[in-house]
Amino acid sequence: MTYALQLEAIWKSFGSHVVLKDVSLDLRKGEFMTMLGPSGSGKSTTLNIIAGFYYPDRGNLYLHGKEIAHVAPNRRNIGMVFQDYALFPHMTILDNVAFPLEARGIARRARRDKAAEMLGVVGLAEYVDRSPWQLSGGQRQRVALARALVFNPDIVLLDEPLGALDKKLRTEMQIEILRITRQLGATVISVTHDQEEALIMSDRIALFRKGELAQVGLPRELYAEPNSVFTADFLGESN
Ligand code: ADP
Ligand code: MG
Repeated sequence: MTYALQLEAIWKSFGSHVVLKDVSLDLRKGEFMTMLGPSGSGKSTTLNIIAGFYYPDRGNLYLHGKEIAHVAPNRRNIGMVFQDYALFPHMTILDNVAFPLEARGIARRARRDKAAEMLGVVGLAEYVDRSPWQLSGGQRQRVALARALVFNPDIVLLDEPLGALDKKLRTEMQIEILRITRQLGATVISVTHDQEEALIMSDRIALFRKGELAQVGLPRELYAEPNSVFTADFLGESN
């Protein structure tokens, strides 16, 4: 079986600080995986290595079986949404979503059609001509999601995309993200500090501890069969 993504014994240091230690992880096509773990445990660094913003010191990385550890970010077919969902302020919503298609050499008409279609999927068909500042936080987050999905990425990386939203909107957006990514059959890794969100949304959870994977498994496995005191304590904490 070819996995959508494979991390094989990844190591990463910044100076003398070892940030990732022997991280291995497989992701099936269409899987929704959530990364959990304390602040500073290496979740964002792992996403940045998958996206290509950092290269690993050791280990390998495969996207649909092809080695990509040292392939530049723009040569990987990966979509990413960050917590601050940086939209281009001077562009319309439609142009924001169409932007990744331009970089991929798609003709203007096809770009606009595809971007409009994706804005329909995220429920913003009426907003194509608006500017980012005319939208609410939740709407901007939908635009960022549409932009990350518009080019049919092999994998979508979400780094605490809902962290800036209030609880009620976050719950709404969680359901939306799951609906949209399932509808598109997207393969997703989502980082969150919201354990309830992880439990509800994920096919599997990957729990980080100090740069290592403490446990990877189905949500109910981590809750019902924690392999360590760390897992039990971390998931037992209310937050
Ligand atoms: P998380 O996302 O789990 O909170 P990170 O992956 O952002 O954790 O960070 C893991 C560790 O790596 C932290 O100690 C952080 O300070 C360090 N780190 C991350 N990026 C850099 C960088 N570019 N330079 C130096 N240290 C970094
Ligand atoms: Mg982080």
